[in-house]
Amino acid sequence: MNEHLKPVYLEEKLDEIRADGHQDYRSKAIPTWCPGCGYYSMTEGFTMALNRLGIEPENTVVVSGIGCASRFPFFVNTYGFHTLHGRTLPVATGIKQANDALTVVAVGGDGDAFAIGAGHIPHAARRNVDITYLVFDNGIYGLTKGQASPTSAVGFKTPTTPYDNCDQPLNPLMMLLSYRASWVGQAYAGRPHHLADMIAEAMAHRGFSYLHILSPCVTFDKTDMTYANLDVGVRDLPGDHDRTDLLAAMAQVEAKEAPALGVFFEEGRPTLGDAMIETIRRAGGQAA
Ligand code: SF4
Ligand code: MG
Repeated sequence: MNEHLKPVYLEEKLDEIRADGHQDYRSKAIPTWCPGCGYYSMTEGFTMALNRLGIEPENTVVVSGIGCASRFPFFVNTYGFHTLHGRTLPVATGIKQANDALTVVAVGGDGDAFAIGAGHIPHAARRNVDITYLVFDNGIYGLTKGQASPTSAVGFKTPTTPYDNCDQPLNPLMMLLSYRASWVGQAYAGRPHHLADMIAEAMAHRGFSYLHILSPCVTFDKTDMTYANLDVGVRDLPGDHDRTDLLAAMAQVEAKEAPALGVFFEEGRPTLGDAMIETIRRAGGQAA
């Protein structure tokens, strides 16, 4: 790996987070990700969030699809389900509906989420399934060696777009807001403390929470979503942003400025579990 793509400051920040005593949540498996990959921030952020929220590993299930990000369940000391490509959300929904006491977190990358898995996102969002979905977006298929993904930028050169990518990228935040996910936020792997805060906040939300995480693939992307570009290419949401205002959230996504980090939208409404219990009650039955 080109050393200048692996920022020293990131390793220092991750060491600070590791020193916070949340190693009980780490498995004994050594991550197989490339050195410097943004997914290391995911592991530290997730385990710190569990520690901070006091969630027991044995009451937590991490569900993933296929891809580099989807190897995540191997590296945390929770229950895990490495499912089929793109099928993370249906499996996570089934687990949550079968046992509402569990904390269920779905994890994946941009290919798994927004190509083969995209059809499941509107339904998890509209039904307000009480799970958290963490999508690590590097704008590339990393596991299969760097092909263009649904979030690759126009002009991005890859093995499948050797001249350049002519496809308009999908807009994940706008998609999630359009289907009214009840919590929508964005973080960046190069800011691991903020990422940990955002994972904790997403998991604390009751309902479907979606966290979009900008996460460099240091091996196959040397030009676009790099640490060097993102370090100066992101901004914080304005301090006066009203997270209860859906149109304000969409305006921030569409703003011509740099991508914003923070909570775009949040609302409280009945979850799928709530609605099912209410339906059973109205029918004169008794919910388990
Ligand atoms: Fe991370 Fe890219 Fe390596 Fe996959 S190929 S582990 S996304 S750096
Ligand atoms: Mg990807």
